[in-house]
Amino acid sequence: ETVNLSRIVENILNEVALGLEEKQMRVVNLMPHDLILTGSSSLLYSIFRNLTDNAIAYAGVGVQVTINCFREDEKFYYFSFSDTGIGVPEEHLNRLFERFYRVDKGRSRKLGGTGLGLAIVKNAVLFHGGTIFAKNAPSGGLEFVFTLQKDL
Ligand code: ATP
Ligand code: MG
Repeated sequence: ETVNLSRIVENILNEVALGLEEKQMRVVNLMPHDLILTGSSSLLYSIFRNLTDNAIAYAGVGVQVTINCFREDEKFYYFSFSDTGIGVPEEHLNRLFERFYRVDKGRSRKLGGTGLGLAIVKNAVLFHGGTIFAKNAPSGGLEFVFTLQKDL
Protein backbone atom coordinates (compact mmCIF):
# COMPACT_ATOMS: atom_id res chain seq x y z
CA GLU A 1 0.00 0.00 0.00
CA THR A 2 1.38 3.42 -0.98
CA VAL A 3 0.90 5.90 1.85
CA ASN A 4 1.20 9.68 1.95
CA LEU A 5 2.58 10.11 5.45
CA SER A 6 2.46 13.90 5.32
CA ARG A 7 -1.26 13.76 4.74
CA ILE A 8 -1.74 11.29 7.60
CA VAL A 9 0.03 13.70 9.97
CA GLU A 10 -1.98 16.66 8.68
CA ASN A 11 -5.22 14.73 9.21
CA ILE A 12 -4.25 13.84 12.78
CA LEU A 13 -3.42 17.46 13.59
CA ASN A 14 -6.86 18.45 12.33
CA GLU A 15 -8.53 15.70 14.35
CA VAL A 16 -6.85 16.78 17.59
CA ALA A 17 -7.18 20.54 17.02
CA LEU A 18 -9.57 20.97 19.96
CA GLY A 19 -7.32 19.09 22.34
CA LEU A 20 -4.34 21.14 21.26
CA GLU A 21 -6.26 24.34 21.80
CA GLU A 22 -7.44 23.26 25.25
CA LYS A 23 -3.83 22.73 26.29
CA GLN A 24 -2.68 25.89 24.49
CA MET A 25 -0.26 23.81 22.51
CA ARG A 26 1.47 24.72 19.32
CA VAL A 27 2.59 22.18 16.75
CA VAL A 28 5.49 22.87 14.44
CA ASN A 29 5.04 20.44 11.58
CA LEU A 30 8.32 20.27 9.65
CA MET A 31 7.33 17.23 7.60
CA PRO A 32 7.94 17.75 3.90
CA HIS A 33 4.91 17.79 1.64
CA ASP A 34 3.92 14.44 0.21
CA LEU A 35 6.34 12.15 1.95
CA ILE A 36 5.49 8.81 0.37
CA LEU A 37 6.30 5.33 1.60
CA THR A 38 4.86 1.87 1.32
CA GLY A 39 3.32 0.21 4.34
CA SER A 40 0.17 0.10 6.43
CA SER A 41 -1.69 3.40 6.60
CA SER A 42 -3.49 2.33 9.77
CA LEU A 43 -0.26 1.38 11.55
CA LEU A 44 1.44 4.58 10.40
CA TYR A 45 -1.58 6.52 11.63
CA SER A 46 -1.34 4.79 15.01
CA ILE A 47 2.31 5.84 15.42
CA PHE A 48 1.66 9.54 15.00
CA ARG A 49 -1.75 9.48 16.68
CA ASN A 50 -0.42 7.85 19.86
CA LEU A 51 2.56 10.19 20.09
CA THR A 52 0.30 13.19 19.55
CA ASP A 53 -2.29 12.03 22.09
CA ASN A 54 0.46 11.43 24.64
CA ALA A 55 1.92 14.89 24.15
CA ILE A 56 -1.53 16.39 24.68
CA ALA A 57 -2.21 14.23 27.74
CA TYR A 58 1.12 14.39 29.57
CA ALA A 59 3.48 17.09 28.34
CA GLY A 60 1.70 19.96 30.05
CA VAL A 61 0.04 23.25 29.20
CA GLY A 62 1.53 25.62 26.66
CA VAL A 63 4.14 23.23 25.32
CA GLN A 64 5.33 23.08 21.76
CA VAL A 65 5.41 19.88 19.74
CA THR A 66 7.78 19.54 16.81
CA ILE A 67 7.36 16.83 14.18
CA ASN A 68 10.20 16.43 11.74
CA CYS A 69 11.57 14.13 9.08
CA PHE A 70 15.19 15.21 9.49
CA ARG A 71 17.00 12.80 7.21
CA GLU A 72 16.63 10.14 4.58
CA ASP A 73 18.95 7.62 3.05
CA GLU A 74 18.58 4.80 0.52
CA LYS A 75 16.46 2.71 2.82
CA PHE A 76 14.97 4.83 5.61
CA TYR A 77 13.27 8.04 6.61
CA TYR A 78 14.37 9.40 10.00
CA PHE A 79 11.83 11.16 12.21
CA SER A 80 11.83 13.08 15.44
CA PHE A 81 8.76 13.85 17.50
CA SER A 82 9.48 16.08 20.47
CA ASP A 83 7.74 18.27 23.01
CA THR A 84 8.94 20.98 25.38
CA GLY A 85 7.03 19.57 28.34
CA ILE A 86 7.88 17.83 31.59
CA GLY A 87 9.67 14.83 30.06
CA VAL A 88 10.16 11.50 31.81
CA PRO A 89 12.71 10.62 34.50
CA GLU A 90 15.79 9.08 32.89
CA GLU A 91 15.32 5.68 34.55
CA HIS A 92 11.91 5.20 32.91
CA LEU A 93 12.96 5.96 29.35
CA ASN A 94 13.84 2.40 28.37
CA ARG A 95 10.64 0.92 29.75
CA LEU A 96 8.20 3.33 28.10
CA PHE A 97 7.54 0.92 25.24
CA GLU A 98 6.52 -1.98 27.49
CA ARG A 99 2.88 -2.90 27.54
CA PHE A 100 0.96 -1.42 30.50
CA TYR A 101 3.98 0.66 31.58
CA ARG A 102 3.06 4.09 32.89
CA VAL A 103 5.55 6.47 34.43
CA ASP A 104 3.86 8.01 37.41
CA LYS A 105 0.80 6.08 38.49
CA GLY A 106 -0.30 8.95 40.69
CA ARG A 107 0.20 11.58 38.05
CA SER A 108 -1.26 9.66 35.14
CA ARG A 109 -4.02 7.61 36.74
CA LYS A 110 -6.41 10.53 36.56
CA LEU A 111 -5.52 10.95 32.89
CA GLY A 112 -6.87 7.49 32.04
CA GLY A 113 -4.87 5.39 29.64
CA THR A 114 -3.85 1.77 29.89
CA GLY A 115 -0.18 2.01 28.98
CA LEU A 116 -0.57 0.34 25.61
CA GLY A 117 -0.03 3.32 23.30
CA LEU A 118 3.76 3.24 23.07
CA ALA A 119 3.82 -0.56 22.81
CA ILE A 120 1.57 -0.20 19.77
CA VAL A 121 3.86 2.55 18.42
CA LYS A 122 6.92 0.35 18.79
CA ASN A 123 5.29 -2.62 17.08
CA ALA A 124 4.12 -0.42 14.21
CA VAL A 125 7.66 0.96 13.78
CA LEU A 126 9.11 -2.57 13.84
CA PHE A 127 6.54 -3.67 11.27
CA HIS A 128 7.92 -0.91 9.02
CA GLY A 129 11.48 -2.17 9.47
CA GLY A 130 12.47 0.67 11.76
CA THR A 131 13.70 1.33 15.27
CA ILE A 132 12.58 3.81 17.92
CA PHE A 133 14.00 5.23 21.11
CA ALA A 134 13.04 7.94 23.58
CA LYS A 135 15.24 10.54 25.21
CA ASN A 136 14.83 13.74 27.10
CA ALA A 137 15.31 16.66 24.76
CA PRO A 138 17.93 19.32 25.61
CA SER A 139 15.04 21.78 25.88
CA GLY A 140 13.39 19.49 28.42
CA GLY A 141 10.44 17.42 27.33
CA LEU A 142 10.33 14.07 25.66
CA GLU A 143 11.73 13.28 22.26
CA PHE A 144 11.13 10.18 20.16
CA VAL A 145 13.51 9.37 17.32
CA PHE A 146 12.52 6.63 14.91
CA THR A 147 13.06 5.32 11.42
CA LEU A 148 10.64 3.89 8.89
CA GLN A 149 11.68 1.89 5.88
CA LYS A 150 10.74 3.60 2.61
CA ASP A 151 9.70 0.38 0.89
CA LEU A 152 8.43 -2.67 2.68
P1 ATP B 1 -2.75 4.52 26.39
O1 ATP B 1 -1.84 5.11 25.36
O2 ATP B 1 -2.89 3.03 26.27
O3 ATP B 1 -4.06 5.24 26.49
P2 ATP B 1 -0.79 5.63 28.18
O4 ATP B 1 -0.85 6.89 27.39
O5 ATP B 1 -0.66 5.73 29.66
O6 ATP B 1 -2.07 4.73 27.84
P3 ATP B 1 1.58 5.04 26.66
O7 ATP B 1 1.06 5.81 25.50
O8 ATP B 1 2.27 3.75 26.38
O9 ATP B 1 0.41 4.71 27.68
O10 ATP B 1 2.55 5.96 27.51
C1 ATP B 1 3.23 5.42 28.64
C2 ATP B 1 3.53 6.50 29.66
O11 ATP B 1 4.57 7.34 29.17
C3 ATP B 1 2.39 7.44 29.98
O12 ATP B 1 1.55 6.89 30.96
C4 ATP B 1 3.12 8.67 30.50
O13 ATP B 1 3.44 8.49 31.85
C5 ATP B 1 4.43 8.64 29.70
N1 ATP B 1 4.45 9.60 28.57
C6 ATP B 1 4.13 9.31 27.28
N2 ATP B 1 4.28 10.38 26.48
C7 ATP B 1 4.71 11.39 27.28
C8 ATP B 1 5.07 12.78 27.06
N3 ATP B 1 4.99 13.33 25.84
N4 ATP B 1 5.50 13.51 28.12
C9 ATP B 1 5.58 12.95 29.36
N5 ATP B 1 5.27 11.66 29.63
C10 ATP B 1 4.83 10.89 28.61
MG1 MG C 1 -0.79 6.88 25.29
